[in-house]
Amino acid sequence: MKINGNYLNLQESYLFLTVAQKVEAFRRANPGKPVYRLGIGDVTLPLAPAVVAALKEASDEMGRAETFKGYGDYEGYGFLREAVCGYYAKKGVDLKPGEVFISDGAKSDLGNILDIFSNDNTVLIPDPVYPVYVDTNIMAGRRVMFMEGSEGNGFLPMPDNSVPADIIYLCSPNNPTGGVYDKEQLKAWVDYANGRGAVILFDGAYESFVRSEGLPTSIYEVDGARTCAIEFCSLSKTAGFTGTRCGYTVIPEGLERGGQPLNKLWLRRQSTKFNGVPYIIQRGAQAVFTETGMGQVRRNVDYYLANAKVIADALTEKGVWFTGGLNSPYIWLKCPGGMSSWQFFDYLLENANVVGTPGAGFGAAGEGFFRLTAFGGRENIEMAMRRFAGVI
Ligand code: PLP
Repeated sequence: MKINGNYLNLQESYLFLTVAQKVEAFRRANPGKPVYRLGIGDVTLPLAPAVVAALKEASDEMGRAETFKGYGDYEGYGFLREAVCGYYAKKGVDLKPGEVFISDGAKSDLGNILDIFSNDNTVLIPDPVYPVYVDTNIMAGRRVMFMEGSEGNGFLPMPDNSVPADIIYLCSPNNPTGGVYDKEQLKAWVDYANGRGAVILFDGAYESFVRSEGLPTSIYEVDGARTCAIEFCSLSKTAGFTGTRCGYTVIPEGLERGGQPLNKLWLRRQSTKFNGVPYIIQRGAQAVFTETGMGQVRRNVDYYLANAKVIADALTEKGVWFTGGLNSPYIWLKCPGGMSSWQFFDYLLENANVVGTPGAGFGAAGEGFFRLTAFGGRENIEMAMRRFAGVI
């Protein structure tokens, strides 16, 4: 018997563990001193009232014989797939319910989608990036290439026609950099992918944070994307569903590779390995897309965006270079004074008692950079940034 040896090629992720250990050591050495956490990657506001009401009502339905539900459709209930199509229609994107697959969040589908692609494919991944893309491909033994984010390209790497990629990951708005591709930039990626017969895996988990006029919130706003892109979305950050778990994946009809429709392959995969998202949760998710629900979740995202502005304004005032902070809950800053990511972490914790996340933990190109997040409470963030500004 042999294990999947590819797992031995995974790099241990010490990032959040090391952060926690360092904060704990600081606390022990400085009892009673408050620590301001700007490293949180999870939402902090509760579910919207419209969602809670729908969850309760659906729970009651499950307790009555006449309305009880057993197994649902693998690809999700029609009511939710239609609600997602309605959401896209408002962006000017025409989708059919058959192109929408309800998931238990973007993370699972971003990993699972790889089942339908050969391990012989070469994968192109931005650096720095959300670590799931790299690790899921290492597990399968695929060849991974990186495209470097830098100060020069605003951490929005662009295609290079000499690079032979088959699977391309794009994340916009990006975690950790907060960078957002505009339509022209996405069009360049779509042309590159269509030209090569590659597939773009577009992670739109933070699409609801995009507020600037003209910036795309879906890759399908770009001509040609329907023949090369799969889009992954989530209600985690949009509607506070990190613990409730619901998302959706879009695979357009007509997206074919190797003569096979990818939509059909994915349905085959899901019907074999997935038994759907709970009915109760899908009803809660449906409520997000109602007018009332949308208004409520938008107010929560607005709150986080206003937090992000507090951080961005403080950095601007201090002349610190950064990306994000606008159209994103993440702020990605250049460590002052040429410090490394971890040097700056230690400096900030010791001197301002503020905790962020060292950029080097998101990839080699993240060295010398640092991530702050806007998911906390306003007062905490204001205090943290006053202290930050005092030591820069
Ligand atoms: N994609 C990105 C870029 C993320 O940052 C996250 C969560 O932090 C996810 C996907 C996962 O989202 P979900 O909670 O829907 O699995």
